[in-house]
Amino acid sequence: MEAEALFRRQCAACLKEDGTADGQRLIKLVLDTYRQANRNLAEQSRLLEIVLNHLPLGLCIFDSGQRLVVSNIRFQQLFGLETDDTRAGTSISSLIAKIDGLEKSEVRGTTREDRSDVGRIRRREWDMNDGRIIQSVVTVLPDGSNISIHADITDDRKAAERIAFLAHHDPLTGLPNRIRFREQMDTALAARKPDDQIALIHLNLDRFKSVNNTLGVSAGDKILRQVADRLRALAGKSNILARLGSDEFAILQCGRDQPWNVMALADQIRRELSEPFFRGEKAVELSVSMGIAINPKDGTETEVLLKHAGVALSHAKSGGRRGERFFTSEMEAQLEARHALEADLRRAVHNEEFELHYQPLYDMAARRICGFEALLRWNHPTRGRIAPMEFIPLAEEVGLIVDIGRWVLKRACMDAAAWPADIKVAVNVSAIQFISSDLEEDVSTALAVSELSPARLEIEITESVLMENREEALPILHALRQRGIRISMDDFGTGYSSLSYLSSFPFDKIKIDKSFVNDIVDNKEAYAIMRAIILLGDALGMRVTVEGVETAQQHDLLAQEACDEIQGYHISSPRPAFDVPQLLAGSHAQGQAQAM
Ligand code: C2E
Ligand code: CA
Ligand code: CA
Repeated sequence: MEAEALFRRQCAACLKEDGTADGQRLIKLVLDTYRQANRNLAEQSRLLEIVLNHLPLGLCIFDSGQRLVVSNIRFQQLFGLETDDTRAGTSISSLIAKIDGLEKSEVRGTTREDRSDVGRIRRREWDMNDGRIIQSVVTVLPDGSNISIHADITDDRKAAERIAFLAHHDPLTGLPNRIRFREQMDTALAARKPDDQIALIHLNLDRFKSVNNTLGVSAGDKILRQVADRLRALAGKSNILARLGSDEFAILQCGRDQPWNVMALADQIRRELSEPFFRGEKAVELSVSMGIAINPKDGTETEVLLKHAGVALSHAKSGGRRGERFFTSEMEAQLEARHALEADLRRAVHNEEFELHYQPLYDMAARRICGFEALLRWNHPTRGRIAPMEFIPLAEEVGLIVDIGRWVLKRACMDAAAWPADIKVAVNVSAIQFISSDLEEDVSTALAVSELSPARLEIEITESVLMENREEALPILHALRQRGIRISMDDFGTGYSSLSYLSSFPFDKIKIDKSFVNDIVDNKEAYAIMRAIILLGDALGMRVTVEGVETAQQHDLLAQEACDEIQGYHISSPRPAFDVPQLLAGSHAQGQAQAM
């Protein structure tokens, strides 16, 4: 209609005044219009070509007879086709025959058919022989012709697969994570035959934190990867292995003859993981603790089995590590009691239910008390007074020792500030306080608020401080010593390597553990050992204190040795701060009497 209206207008424009038409003029007008239309068409097809060949997607159109009408270069590139292959008129089947890949016959979620206003939409995927994945979206029009666009989705698909993998695996070791492990356990438990027994080992590397602290996180990561490799080799194809957390792994062993099979596996794990990591000078040795629960005896559900293996693991840990424990129902009761104690302990910190008792340190030469060791007591609202050995290990494990230790330092310094100026105070400091708090700052605050001279403060540490965090502890110890605070090595002789630690730091004092004094009166060898340790301390220029002196005979024997101080029930048991003046008065009178 538009063309007809135009022609009418052109004719009207050519009418002369006499009513006749100007033929020449009409021809010119019509030809001009044709030329302009041709120019427009050429411009349009040029634009279309630019769009087609610059589209980042492959595009092709097939007519209702399934013959190619048009396609772009990207389409050729995606499917590795030549220009000749994509001539107009080529049939779909001959195109497909030239493609170096396979159309997936069924792609779940991708061979969908949607209906849109234009027609049916089909999604397809191609697995190309070179590994690429190409997705095609085909719009089929009502007359059977179709337009399709094609894209390389290899990277997107890989990213999606990686995300899906990471949701269920640990990126460091590539092992299944906790979420995946639970699913695998669910499946294994559901598939269990009546006679099967499924054993779960929950394992944890002992003291891995200190490895991380001393060697650095990247060395720690390397070790974890090696641990995973060793466990993978042991677990083989028949057992399920996972990494549950930082230094925690789990193995599910399906089969029969339990507990024998799982015992054998645990044994292998213990041996394999005790082989040093890294070689040469940097060799690191690790040990592992394991908790074991067996289905159906210890639980029939994933959740319960995991919990019980965890309970057994914490028993293995608290039983001195390096070993495995099978779950028992008593363990659970004990664990509940521990949780209750932990809850009470948290409240105790808040409510200040703690108290310090003081036990005299007795100077053998001056024959009088020269100081006191502060010993912590917990006045539990219902259970009465609780001894430190019953709650300090727990407080250390859950980190509460940091707050408690800070309080002890402050209280001890404040109490000591009220004593005569020549009386010292000794405070016990746990290994955890060296890593988890700013010990130097805590000591400074305690000294500042109490106005106690640093020379009157002694810090008692055990070898565990140097064993677990030597790198962090040594500078702190040096800094404290620089300020005039004295450092004592406590419980000397009870650890693995007290001797080697003596040379790593210039201790002011060693305190020989009370276990050495027990037999010195009746047993010559015990006496000889005691003498040797005293001489050693003396030779190193350290003051020597003997702990746990309970009788006058022990005291008399020690008086003949180069022992500087003694501590023990023979002098006095630990007493409340209130009793200190009285203890000092008695000791002072005694010292004067002896001197006369
Ligand atoms: P320790 O530092 O070796 O303290 C000496 C322990 O031996 C004290 O036990 C004391 O009561 C006990 N004792 C003293 N004289 C004798 C004796 O003649 N014979 C015997 N058999 N024992 C004697 P206590 O007070 O139960 O403290 C036990 C441990 O708890 C301490 O051992 C220390 O390692 C820890 N501890 C106590 N207070 C604190 C504290 O404030 N902080 C930290 N981190 N640990 C503390
Ligand atoms: Ca001590
Ligand atoms: Ca001690």
